[in-house]
Amino acid sequence: MSDYVAILGAKGGPAIRPGSSMPTSLLVSMGGRRIVVDCGLGVTRGLVDQGMELKDLSLIFVTHLHSDHYLELGPLLHTAWTAGLKTPVDVYGPPGLETAWAGFLASMQADIDLRIADEGRPDLRPLVRIHPIAEGEVLSDGGLTIRALRTIHPPLVDCFALSFRTAERHVVFSGDTAPLAALETFARGADLLIHEAMLEQALPSLTARVGNGSEKLMTHLLRSHTPAQDAARIATRAGVKRLALCHLIPADDPAYGPEDWSRAIAGHWDGPFFLAADGLRIAV
Ligand SMILES: [Zn+2]
Ligand SMILES: [Zn+2]
Repeated sequence: MSDYVAILGAKGGPAIRPGSSMPTSLLVSMGGRRIVVDCGLGVTRGLVDQGMELKDLSLIFVTHLHSDHYLELGPLLHTAWTAGLKTPVDVYGPPGLETAWAGFLASMQADIDLRIADEGRPDLRPLVRIHPIAEGEVLSDGGLTIRALRTIHPPLVDCFALSFRTAERHVVFSGDTAPLAALETFARGADLLIHEAMLEQALPSLTARVGNGSEKLMTHLLRSHTPAQDAARIATRAGVKRLALCHLIPADDPAYGPEDWSRAIAGHWDGPFFLAADGLRIAV
C-alpha cells in the first residue's frame, strides 16, 4: 500500500449547506497504518468512499474539541462496530474526549446492549481506548512516529498539530491554528504540509451570512485561524516539499473559487499546491 493522505472533509466549521463540502476529517495512510485524523460530520462515509473497511479501524486522532473535528467520532466507532469491528481502536485526543465518548455510549446504551444480546456482538465499550494527548511524542509503533504540537486556537488550549513520520515520509497537519511560528520547525522539510486556511477578503460576507450580527464570529476567526497567505509563508519557511490547504473558510461561497486561493498564496509559495476537496487523495 503506497502512502497517501485522503481529504475526507475539506471545510472549516461544522455547518453544511447546499454546495458546501464536509467538515474536517482526513485519512492518513502511512507505513502500513491507516490513521483517521479528526472526525467531522461525514467521516464514516468518507472512509468507505476511500475503500476502507470500517472493521479495520484501529487508530484515530482528534486534534481538538470543536464539533467540526469530533462530532462523528461516536457514530464512526458505532458504525464500525456494526460493520464487524472486533479488534481494539485507540483514540488519541485532547483531555475531555473521554467524556464525549462516555456521553455517546450513554446515548446509545439501549442499542448497544440490544445488539450484544440479540446479534451476539462483542461489547463495544472495551474495544475503544481513549488516550489523552499532550505536546511531544504521542506514539511510536512499527516505524511510525506521531508527534503533537500545541497550536494557537483560543479559547481552546488543547488543540494540536500532528506530525506523522516514517523512515521514508513525513506528513504534517496543522490542526486549527492562528499563524504558528513553531510549525516551521515542527514541519521542517516535510513531504507534505496540510495547513488550515481562510480567505480574508471573504470573511465580511461570511460573517454577514452565517454570523448572528455580533462581531464575535469575526473576532474568533481572526484570532484563531490562519489567512491563506500566512499558511503559504509558513510552508515556504519550513521548506516543505508540498502544500495542501484545507479546513477552508469559506467553503460554500460561490463568489470564491480555486483561483482565489491560488491568488492568495501567489508570491508566498511556489511549490506544488493542492486545494482540499472532499475525496481528494494526495500521494506522499
Ligand atoms: Zn475547525
Ligand atoms: Zn477549531
